[in-house]
Amino acid sequence: MDVLLSEDERLLRDSVRSYLDAKIAPIVTEHERARTFPWHRLAELYEFGYVRGVVPEADGGDGASHMVLALLMQEAGRCWGSLRTTLNVQSMLARVLSTAGTPEQKERFLRPLLAGQRFGWFALTEPDAGSDAGALRTTARRDGDDYVINGRKLYITNALAGDFGVVLARVPDTGEVSAFLVDRAESEYQAYDIPHMPLRATTSCELVFDQTRIPAANLLGELGRGLALAMSGVNLGRLNMAMGAVGLSQACLEACVDFARTREQFGRPIAGFQLVQEMVVQVATLTETARLLGYQAARTLDAGLPGRYECSMAKYYCGEAVGQAATLALQVHGGAGLMEESPVERYFRDAREATIPEGTSQIQILHLGKHLLGVSALR
Ligand SMILES: Cc1cc2nc3c(=O)[nH]c(=O)nc-3n(C[C@H](O)[C@H](O)[C@H](O)COP(=O)(O)OP(=O)(O)OC[C@H]3O[C@@H](n4cnc5c(N)ncnc54)[C@H](O)[C@@H]3O)c2cc1C
Repeated sequence: MDVLLSEDERLLRDSVRSYLDAKIAPIVTEHERARTFPWHRLAELYEFGYVRGVVPEADGGDGASHMVLALLMQEAGRCWGSLRTTLNVQSMLARVLSTAGTPEQKERFLRPLLAGQRFGWFALTEPDAGSDAGALRTTARRDGDDYVINGRKLYITNALAGDFGVVLARVPDTGEVSAFLVDRAESEYQAYDIPHMPLRATTSCELVFDQTRIPAANLLGELGRGLALAMSGVNLGRLNMAMGAVGLSQACLEACVDFARTREQFGRPIAGFQLVQEMVVQVATLTETARLLGYQAARTLDAGLPGRYECSMAKYYCGEAVGQAATLALQVHGGAGLMEESPVERYFRDAREATIPEGTSQIQILHLGKHLLGVSALR
């Protein structure tokens, strides 16, 4: 029972959870080991409001509340980190296309994306522009009816699988950053997977643009407004990350309760030992406090308030909390927790991701510090 949710919200959460447990959880291990992803299963998940929920009905979406989006991400995070991060990227793309796309761009990219027929990536980070995203160096030079893109992007989720993407690049004439749609069917670029620790059913790619030509009609939004467009989705991205982390904490809790009840040492279940109980209670408390901050951020956005402070705090706390929860859950499992056949081995690896993308914990602290103290430590 979750008294902070309405009846409809509880029903949605429970039905998504049942569906993910029955249909997706059984295929997680095989995909994580093979480093593959069941792209063909996404469309059925969109029926619950994933991805479509971030888009207004006028653009073919469901126009869901932030609370509903938060619950959807929580359940995805509880089931499978690779699924949660993939849904997050598709949601961010849907959002920018709906916000800034022309009617033609919506027809070509947004409509098939919402139908689960096209999948994309979002490329902002570069080798020398991570937390300081505004320092990006990739260029998009106008040449007749085209833009010519040159530069490298790093850690781009699922750029190997996606057949289009949004790339942020600087237009040399103005020096301002703009967003461009790159379609693999019409433009040449290279994508290389970088082997990585968490989220093994996703790819984390380097993208190389070497004289990559794209039609000028692929400019997304206004010239020079690319960073503003990326930042317009910052609250949603942070809320998604925060609630995905809450779901993963919940999975850690369920795993260590099950294990502690069945594992016996010294002639009885380890659940009866006070030090084991302490670890399980710590995981539960981390999970519930994180959940409350996530709910608070979602309700703040639904109340029409800016929510930047609340989303930043939720992203910071939930990301740090899931790291502690996963460490404790692994400890409750003893040696079994380090074996790949145990779910907490994956939870532990995936939890480490939560403090990095969508603004590291340190960057969140600086945003929160500026809000509280009125002084920016960044610039
Ligand atoms: C799994 C994964 C998926 C990702 N997916 C995408 C994607 O799809 N698209 C995309 O564009 N990017 C993506 N990223 C990149 C991600 O957004 C960056 O990794 C993140 O912004 C941090 O940048 P960085 O890794 O270069 O670290 P850096 O910015 O180099 O930071 C290194 C360390 O320094 C700290 N630091 C930096 N500046 C300050 C400061 N001013 N004060 C205090 N501490 C500071 C950071 O907190 C961190 O601890 C992904 C990353 C990961 C790990």
